[in-house]
Amino acid sequence: MLVSAKDMLNKARDGKYAVGQFNINNLEWTKAILLTAQELKSPVILGVSEGAGKYMCGYKTVVGMVNGMIDSLGITVPVALHLDHGTFEGAKACINAGFSSIMFDGSHLPFEENFAKTTALVNTCDVLGLSLEAEVGAIGGEEDGVVGMGECADPEECKKIADLGVTMLAAGIGNIHGKYPENWPGLSFETLEAIKAKVGDMPLVLHGGTGIPDDQIKKAISLGVAKINVNTECQLVFQEATRKYIEAGKDLEGKGFDPRKLLAPGFEAIKAKVKEKMEIFGSVGKA
Ligand SMILES: [Zn+2]
Repeated sequence: MLVSAKDMLNKARDGKYAVGQFNINNLEWTKAILLTAQELKSPVILGVSEGAGKYMCGYKTVVGMVNGMIDSLGITVPVALHLDHGTFEGAKACINAGFSSIMFDGSHLPFEENFAKTTALVNTCDVLGLSLEAEVGAIGGEEDGVVGMGECADPEECKKIADLGVTMLAAGIGNIHGKYPENWPGLSFETLEAIKAKVGDMPLVLHGGTGIPDDQIKKAISLGVAKINVNTECQLVFQEATRKYIEAGKDLEGKGFDPRKLLAPGFEAIKAKVKEKMEIFGSVGKA
């Protein structure tokens, strides 16, 4: 059964570890992440972007696939199915389809509009028992089509949104989506501390987890980050393993063309990457 991310994140905040959000793209991705979470007794959040939702034939298909897998794979660790960077319309569609957690990203909107739309969703999610993530201060990178150096959110705006009663808050602290540029200056712990001082107990979310050095990840967790999003990194290891398989000519040997064989190295690579991340985040054994 899918659960809200609220309990798992509050526990993570109190226990000074973070729960990973791993974005899914298809059956192999979902199965790899769920099996790894179960093996490691870790809570997990499956992230679905609107684009990935469309690719997987809509939110209802995603909910059906994930619920089916939780049942047939015997998954007992807490699993939240979370809309990643949702629009207001997308959030409503996921609520109707059966997601257990929603991110409404109004960070690109004028602050007043972000505030008003987040307020509306806080009420809906409260009634339905869903967790809600809000975002303040855009996170750079792929999100807006340009690779920037990462923005920093205004702590005052963070407080206003946190006070609405969202479950968790994503705020830019110099992090970006996709690969980090060579000359990236690192996370702004000054900003993180200023935000934390304003929002109190609110679990914070770190987007763009791909390529942030482990020591910075650990420091961010110690300062209040309780959820870390990983997306690009799983894509890169999947691509690398699949390329190796084909370049080694394995698809030409025997039944190597069978999709179940062709996709197996990428599947195993995702499992290994998710395991590595859960170990760094400290969520192993916390389910
Ligand atoms: Zn993100």
